[in-house]
Amino acid sequence: MIWYPYQQMKTMTPPLRITDARGVYLYSGEMKLIDSISSWWSVIHGYHHPVLDEAIRSQLEHFAHVMLGGLTHDAAEALSAKLEAWLPGDLDYCFYSDSGSVAVEVALKMALQYYTNRGSKRRMVLALTHAYHGDTFKTMEVGDDEDYHFAFGEKKDVVHIDTELSDLEAAFAAHGEDFTCMIVEPLLQGAGGMRMYDISFLRRARELCDRYGVLLIFDEVATGFGRTGNRFVADLVLPDILVLGKALTGGMIGHAVTVANRKVYDGFYSDNPAHALMHGPTFMGNALACSVALKSIELFEQGNYLDKIRRIEEITRRELSGFSDPRVKEVRIMGGCVCMEVYDARTLDGFQAFARERGVFSRPFLRYLYAMVPYIITENELVHVLDTMKAWFDR
Ligand SMILES: *Cc1c(COP(=O)(O)O)cnc(C)c1O
Repeated sequence: MIWYPYQQMKTMTPPLRITDARGVYLYSGEMKLIDSISSWWSVIHGYHHPVLDEAIRSQLEHFAHVMLGGLTHDAAEALSAKLEAWLPGDLDYCFYSDSGSVAVEVALKMALQYYTNRGSKRRMVLALTHAYHGDTFKTMEVGDDEDYHFAFGEKKDVVHIDTELSDLEAAFAAHGEDFTCMIVEPLLQGAGGMRMYDISFLRRARELCDRYGVLLIFDEVATGFGRTGNRFVADLVLPDILVLGKALTGGMIGHAVTVANRKVYDGFYSDNPAHALMHGPTFMGNALACSVALKSIELFEQGNYLDKIRRIEEITRRELSGFSDPRVKEVRIMGGCVCMEVYDARTLDGFQAFARERGVFSRPFLRYLYAMVPYIITENELVHVLDTMKAWFDR
């Protein structure tokens, strides 16, 4: 049987069986629901997109997968060339893996070994409170979410700060010479509660990282590909290492990439075999994933997605302007993300069933009722999602 994620299996409500999916819609037999969270924020072009389906089909005519150990192939090379050209600055060196958590592990390893290769004793990591970087052990350590990871022990060598300039200054003053890297979900912290903060924090972080020689890592597994209204937050402030996942393949197949800049890459490039990056997920650079990721990026470019996302944000602001409820602590909107934070998690008990009756699939967590819709959603569909969220408080 299936052991489901983030669930107490004893009390779990049975999951909804999906029989088909097209555009923004999930189908369960006769039932048709708008997926308001894009299958964990990944399905940005909607389901069953003909171009993405075709990318997989045509790659399948050759092969689905070969390893990258000693082999290479056109799909991985084409995607890497595209990312190299498309990503800002000299973020040019693409290391693939099968999930966002692993890609974050790779980023942290890169930062640590970058310093080990130079004979440095630096070991510490600067991270943010309420951060979420994945469910593997090191990502849990740099993460800060007791609600996910309370069952696992201490966090070694990691300093967590709030997104306040004073905390940032203090952390660098105290440990600047000990940090290998600073890792953040830039502008929008997703699983930690859809928390949004200002770009000025990241600008200052960049300055301090430069001053103290600390590598800046942007975990854009969730924010990448337009979710904040920017293509990547890395377009605004340039990190040394960028991690992409979730929407990388348009939500078609799990895949992720850790993209390093020249400086990081050069830190491994030497005549010493011990300076190599010793990591290699079995399915890294999977050919189906790479072909579909390339097509997903082309769709994003050719379909004016940033305009679509701007429209989603405008409609969201319009529909929620004037909305308030004593149970709602704050409404946050950024790009293609909207979140209603309530004071008491119990306020959201029953919302999922309520939404389902109204044709919307939603999955609030803790105190957060949110939507991250596929970018191809129509205005009517989006208004319906937002109406459903508001209606919960009007009962
Ligand atoms: C989802 C997520 C991850 C983990 O990605 P997986 O593919 O689930 O391992 C890492 N970082 C952020 C910011 C995420 O939202």
